[in-house]
Amino acid sequence: MQGNDSTHPVDLFVIGGGINGCGIARDAAGRGFSVTLAEMSDLASATSSSSTKLFHGGLRYLEYFEFRLVREALIEREILLRAMPHISWPMRFVLPYHKDMRFESETPTSKFLSVVMPWMKGRRPAWLIRLGLFLYDHLGGRKILPGTETIGLTGTPEGAPLQERFAKAYEYSDCWVEDSRLVILNARDAEARGAAILTRTKVTHATREGDLWRVETKDMEHGRTATHYAKMLVNAGGPWVGDVIHGKIDLPSKEGVRLVRGSHIVTRKLFDHDKCYFFQGTDGRIIFAIPYETDFTLIGTTDAEHSDPSIKPTCTDEERDYLIAFANKYFKAPISAEDVVWSYSGVRPLYDDGASSATAATRDYTLKVDAEGGAPVLNIFGGKITTYRRLAESALEKISEHLPDAKGPNAKGRWTAGVPLAGGDFPVGGFDRLVSELRAQFGFLTPFWARRLVRAYGTEARDMLGDAENAEALGRDFGATLTETEVTWLMEREYARTAEDIVWRRSKLGLRLDETQINDLDDWMQSHRARMAAAE
Ligand SMILES: Cc1cc2nc3c(=O)[nH]c(=O)nc-3n(C[C@H](O)[C@H](O)[C@H](O)COP(=O)(O)OP(=O)(O)OC[C@H]3O[C@@H](n4cnc5c(N)ncnc54)[C@H](O)[C@@H]3O)c2cc1C
Repeated sequence: MQGNDSTHPVDLFVIGGGINGCGIARDAAGRGFSVTLAEMSDLASATSSSSTKLFHGGLRYLEYFEFRLVREALIEREILLRAMPHISWPMRFVLPYHKDMRFESETPTSKFLSVVMPWMKGRRPAWLIRLGLFLYDHLGGRKILPGTETIGLTGTPEGAPLQERFAKAYEYSDCWVEDSRLVILNARDAEARGAAILTRTKVTHATREGDLWRVETKDMEHGRTATHYAKMLVNAGGPWVGDVIHGKIDLPSKEGVRLVRGSHIVTRKLFDHDKCYFFQGTDGRIIFAIPYETDFTLIGTTDAEHSDPSIKPTCTDEERDYLIAFANKYFKAPISAEDVVWSYSGVRPLYDDGASSATAATRDYTLKVDAEGGAPVLNIFGGKITTYRRLAESALEKISEHLPDAKGPNAKGRWTAGVPLAGGDFPVGGFDRLVSELRAQFGFLTPFWARRLVRAYGTEARDMLGDAENAEALGRDFGATLTETEVTWLMEREYARTAEDIVWRRSKLGLRLDETQINDLDDWMQSHRARMAAAE
């Protein structure tokens, strides 16, 4: 295999199977580079499965004058929507207005207003929100998504769950994305274009040997070690980017990463429409309350310093209570800790720009190449799910400076805009039609089941179901519409190894399955793997 000895090195060795590592691997493989990617756990097991799951420009970043980031992300929303209309979809955001809403005191906008309009005392005036939304509508060449509207909340479905003091709201557009599936589909596409995707494989050390990197890996399931050679290294370790720099490849780099934890809580459905709420707090922060997985509501997020990537982030009681109290300032029917059915937490690997608060630290990405001591390494800091494709393009520009001789079909440059991910080869807005077609072909699918499959697999849902004429033909039923056929698909094509990979990342069926069902699934998967290994 290419890469396992120094006479046949791969062009690129990517450390990290989050969205940035997988996005870069896909783009690079498509340009004809030989690529190996190593992920120490499951794909998307860290930050890339713990986001708020929005393809968004980031309305609040306008207050930090992050115009480049916002513009790039706004343009990107529609490019991504077209390439994956199954796992992403447009969403309307309702921003209730009240005069008590305040700025975070450190934003450049609030500092400016405190000088020119000191009587506002940190309040966020309505005209400023309208101005922000005007910019948001016009910075990013919107074609598919509708623009901002002012709506009344009295007697409307949007106003129904809210307290009566909210009479008016602004409604604007952004998009939802299934973050973990985005990562998997990028990894699959990279593999289809020739990349080797090694999951449960940790990079334990890498050293320069002249023009090459010698990379040591360890299989985290069996303990086997291996050596790989590569012309260039990409450090997409997310929260571990600093650990890789200092602990695995011993670079004398001063670049820093700032770890900012964000937590979300999930409750049973709190409102009966498909729009999302954007709530502003009196502390200057904002949170979202989003319709989630048909029967639930997702509320987040927080911003808390996180000291060490090896400490698994969890939603603390304090963060949970903060989110509940925040939401209760808006919802008529208060929620409590008993209403929380699940929570999750992730760590933002932000470039350390010296900002004094976690909320203020830049969400933009920074790419740094170190080629001082021989073979080059590219370190990735920060970034958003929304900008992963653009980040990969910028990374490839830097990579191409060091590896000028790619020979693939897309060797000349950018190619990923407009190329759908697996299952995404249907028009934006074509989701309902695809669901009807699937139900017509497979009459045994319930509406929930068909919608779930099309959301996850798009046009590939048909391939997965094959020629099944009834539910029994799909093999064992693990509950909540998860069948043996789907589990086998996920294991054989989408790198799933454990029940957790399936019920909390490739789907969110963990919200519907109980502990016994999840354990049964895991047992079945381990037996299936043993059978497959014995048959090889
Ligand atoms: C709470 C929260 C909400 C967010 N919401 C949004 C949002 O709504 N929209 C948006 O656009 N962005 C959002 N983001 C940002 C976005 O999620 C991140 O920027 C993005 O997921 C980072 O991806 P990554 O690939 O850099 O890191 P990760 O996904 O963390 O991937 C890094 C991977 O590297 C692996 N790794 C590390 N060291 C090694 C090693 N030695 N060997 C092998 N593998 C290794 C890790 O296991 C990990 O899987 C949010 C982030 C958070 C935390």
